[in-house]
Amino acid sequence: MIIVMQPGAPELEIERISDELRTWGLHPEKIVGQYKVVIGLVGETAGLQPERIQELSPWIEEVVRVEQPFKRASREFRHGQPSDIAIDTPNGTVVFGEAQPLVVVAGPCSVENEEMIVETALRVKAAGAKFLRGGAYKPRTSPYAFQGHGESALELLAAARAASGLGIITEVMDTADIDKIAQVADVLQVGARNMQNFALLKKIGAQNKPVLLKRGMSATIEEWLMAAEYILAGGNPNVILCERGIRTFDTRYTRNTLDLSVIPVLRKLTHLPIMIDPSHGTGKSEYVPAMAMAAVAAGTDALMIEVHPNPAKALSDGPQSLTPERFDRLMREELAVIAQAVGRWPQVAVGV
Ligand code: PEP
Ligand code: MN
Repeated sequence: MIIVMQPGAPELEIERISDELRTWGLHPEKIVGQYKVVIGLVGETAGLQPERIQELSPWIEEVVRVEQPFKRASREFRHGQPSDIAIDTPNGTVVFGEAQPLVVVAGPCSVENEEMIVETALRVKAAGAKFLRGGAYKPRTSPYAFQGHGESALELLAAARAASGLGIITEVMDTADIDKIAQVADVLQVGARNMQNFALLKKIGAQNKPVLLKRGMSATIEEWLMAAEYILAGGNPNVILCERGIRTFDTRYTRNTLDLSVIPVLRKLTHLPIMIDPSHGTGKSEYVPAMAMAAVAAGTDALMIEVHPNPAKALSDGPQSLTPERFDRLMREELAVIAQAVGRWPQVAVGV
């Protein structure tokens, strides 16, 4: 934190402010420039409110935060090194990380019945996915829309895990459901609508399953990283960040605006692995392949793609779901080319 004094600020006033800050446990350091004096603050400043310091004197021009408000999520926290998140699945350990092969997560929006979830699991596995996604508890805008089959769908996910050997990713909406979902899931998903459900984040941080934290639909990158910080501060170091599109002004041609700029931005700010969800990001299956390829070219560590055996009949998010055939083609003919070019296809993984 830096305090910029107004030109001509009296020396006595600078001393008074510095003395006051010392009583707060901080170490003020005076830097005298040609026109202005600046006070640098060393110490634990993450919890300080710039407004409180501003109130100390009318001679203070501005208070500038130079360090990140997120600490454990910051790249510096790991001395510039990326974090790998290794997850054991029945088919073996899958690692999410910057120097790892691309990980693809695929499956329907909702778990509908045993046949469809097992069939989807086997089809996406054959195409190269490493995790099956599917909601048992669905966050729906309308209380009258299909809400997910709940606990019974967890059993179906367990059956699909046993049949395919894929790891399972499914959403938690209520703190009361964490334990039973964690018995089946390999990764707990916190959805966009719950990104700032701080009670949920604290509870998720206090348990040890890895977490997929989706970006809130109107969340800034800083708010998203602060949400991750809740989980990390709770003691759970395994957080994967998933961009799923944000609200902008076009509602006609796309459901959301997929913000691929987060890939280089997050890379600079955080050590956590990055996932891109082009399905919710565009809302239309025909746009999913292009954005999936763009995400891989831009350096994403993982993709989440909705796949349904019969999108026209899906109980949720059919319009954005790929058929298993289209998903297979995307993996083999399109993503394979791009991922190989950037050294992220399994056969040519960097450092493997
Ligand atoms: C989902 O993954 O099906 C979902 C509801 O996603 P989001 O929270 O990103 O809307
Ligand atoms: Mn969905």
